Amino acid sequence: METKFISKDKITGLISSLEGEIFVPQKRENSFHWQKYPCAFSLEGFRTSLPPKFFFYSPQEKLIEKNIIKRAVVGIKACDLRGILFLRKVFKEGDFTDPFFRDDVFIISSDCTYIHENCFCTLLGDNPYPEKGFDLNLSEVEGGFLVEIGSRKGKILVEKKQGLFSPASPEQIEESRKRREEVKNQIKGKKIEIEKNIEPEKIADEIKKCVSCSACTNICPSCFCFLLDEQSNFEKVRFLDSCQYCGYARVAGGANPRKELDKRFIYRIKCKFEYSPERFGLRGCFACGRCISACFGGINFKDVLLKLGKGCRMCNV
Ligand code: SF4
Ligand code: SF4
Repeated sequence: METKFISKDKITGLISSLEGEIFVPQKRENSFHWQKYPCAFSLEGFRTSLPPKFFFYSPQEKLIEKNIIKRAVVGIKACDLRGILFLRKVFKEGDFTDPFFRDDVFIISSDCTYIHENCFCTLLGDNPYPEKGFDLNLSEVEGGFLVEIGSRKGKILVEKKQGLFSPASPEQIEESRKRREEVKNQIKGKKIEIEKNIEPEKIADEIKKCVSCSACTNICPSCFCFLLDEQSNFEKVRFLDSCQYCGYARVAGGANPRKELDKRFIYRIKCKFEYSPERFGLRGCFACGRCISACFGGINFKDVLLKLGKGCRMCNV
């Protein structure tokens, strides 16, 4: 598929042509936050503070009638696109098909142009730029963006708005490649590979700091566990749940296989690196680092993974 170029002054023309509710990232000091368009927006930098998963399903919703307003999200970064692909597997292709999961959202993703201090995608073998799962992707170059088409919907939009685009030159494609490489090189550290037999004693000090608040799972782009509640009027409501709550695994009769903090903490890691690959064919962590920023216990998840990883911990290779 031919790569296109769109100049910066035409980007609002592209965004305004999207249908339905449109969400864009807005920069505030050193972070990015989702805002409803039209508003000032920024496609630079790294992932937003909150993940885009709530554009696809709600943290609390009545399971009565699906809201069918069209939606488009602009500026989703690579880690979050992987999170959305993961959620699609869970909600659409897994053990059940969820009619409330919105898989018709138009996605314009964009490359990371610099990283957040907690980002570690390359340490898990991923790249800080989108490779699949988008309708269109924007890679910043001098004066504008390269536009990659990733779906039929994306192709139709580009054809409809062809006056906004021109063919990308080989120089622009090379510039984009170099910029991507530079961002990749901003993430330093050794590769993370989690061993199957997790030894809790290696991370005992970190586990002790956990206060079971669930901030890590709520803010994770791929954590999806929920709780169904039947209300007094017999309406069914679905809420976010968290494996970090003490009562998460409790069953009728009061038995609880994960009452202890260390079992819950280890379960979260195994869910992401062992059970999710087994069930869905995908890892459940995309190295966005949000759980590090959000943790009330001050736990650095990347360091936890490094301590559990393969290799010699004495010489750090
Ligand atoms: S576990 Fe943490 S770093 Fe991994 S995807 Fe979830 S929030 Fe991001
Ligand atoms: S955010 Fe931190 S303190 Fe809260 S449940 Fe997760 S690991 Fe524990």
